[in-house]
Amino acid sequence: MLYALYHRERVKTRIKVTRDMNRKSDTSKVRKMPGQVHDSCKSLLLAMVGFDTVNTNISGKPDAELALSQYLESQANAMGLTTRRLPVSGEGFNLLVSHRVSDEAPWLLFESHLDTVSVEGMTVDPFAGQVRAGRMYGRGACDTKGSGAAILWALRRYAEGSPQPNNVAIVYTLDEEIGKTGARTFVKTHLPALGWKPVGVIVGEPTELRLVVAHNGVVRWRIETQGIATHSSDPGGGRSAISMMVKVIRALESRYIPMLNTSHPLTGRAQCSINVIHGGTQINVIPEHCEIHVDRRIVPGEDPQQVLPAVERVLAELRGVHEGLNVSQDQPDIDDPPLDPSGGEAFAAFVRRVLERMELPSDLTGVGYGTDASSFGYADVPAVVLGPGSIAQGHTCDEWIDLEQLRRSVDVYLHLMCSPIEAGKGEEQ
Ligand SMILES: [Zn+2]
Repeated sequence: MLYALYHRERVKTRIKVTRDMNRKSDTSKVRKMPGQVHDSCKSLLLAMVGFDTVNTNISGKPDAELALSQYLESQANAMGLTTRRLPVSGEGFNLLVSHRVSDEAPWLLFESHLDTVSVEGMTVDPFAGQVRAGRMYGRGACDTKGSGAAILWALRRYAEGSPQPNNVAIVYTLDEEIGKTGARTFVKTHLPALGWKPVGVIVGEPTELRLVVAHNGVVRWRIETQGIATHSSDPGGGRSAISMMVKVIRALESRYIPMLNTSHPLTGRAQCSINVIHGGTQINVIPEHCEIHVDRRIVPGEDPQQVLPAVERVLAELRGVHEGLNVSQDQPDIDDPPLDPSGGEAFAAFVRRVLERMELPSDLTGVGYGTDASSFGYADVPAVVLGPGSIAQGHTCDEWIDLEQLRRSVDVYLHLMCSPIEAGKGEEQ
């Protein structure tokens, strides 16, 4: 689940909180040495929660996921699975874990991110993985180390058992909560060089094991007005960037936002809102600078690349009416496409039938939050989102996952791995 950029500002407090929390818990006891495999998925998850993987852009700590990636690599190797490091940035890498059955078998891909949001304000020890009343508490237990543990556990069982109709791989990615650099680098750089293309990808995020086939995307960017500063005793000698911005906001709220009428049956309507404003420096100076930050929700079928050009047309019109109006748009801070179900129907039908056979809810649903799933659209790989835990518990002060659902998710992932898919179609044979 995508986090917000503006949380970066409290980095210092957060690091202190993290350190204090670290002192309280000693999770090294639950980690296994290289070569030693956990005896349950729950135990693996407990060890994973013990790693502080607060996103680098939030914590300021470089390569936040590195130690956990290395740990999972050693676990997967001890399980007899093949691993490969796919470099992303710094020392950080996406970890590919795979089990190849044959050259002819189709590839089924699973994805899970290793970073988490901050631990600030948490009321439970974020790294202790405390278990109470059938739940495990901790940062990332739900979003999304639960899925990450369950997928690896399922692949271990798959590789040891039969039938084995598919080649199966897992990619553990970096930086989902802020920049999605892990998934994007995987899709754009690593995947084309692997020598195989998956029939589809199952993205592990908390959906309570409901099948999510659509979600909205988001574009966030800054619009700036530039004025001329002067002493406030002579306003006519300058130009107020704030006055200019008032005109810009009025134009957006009357001639852009109300015109957004695109909608999708699973994710609702396109939305746009102006949520941050900064302008001026002091009370006796005509402001030289003003900026707003705009959040635009893109529904499946819309093209994020078209957002800024559409706003530019409104601004161009405004410049024509108001002489000297100096307004410009920055490139987006976030430019995240929607997860579009069209084209992926056959793969979604395959996943749906597996859920039906397990007598689990199998209706196709959509959600408002974003995930790595949409990045797979860059490579035309169909993607669905399916994982244990509820999004209501992700990012919360007492994040937890239901352990019964964790157990069930291992079964679901294992059934998916064991179900034959026809290569290129995503249909069962
Ligand atoms: Zn997530």
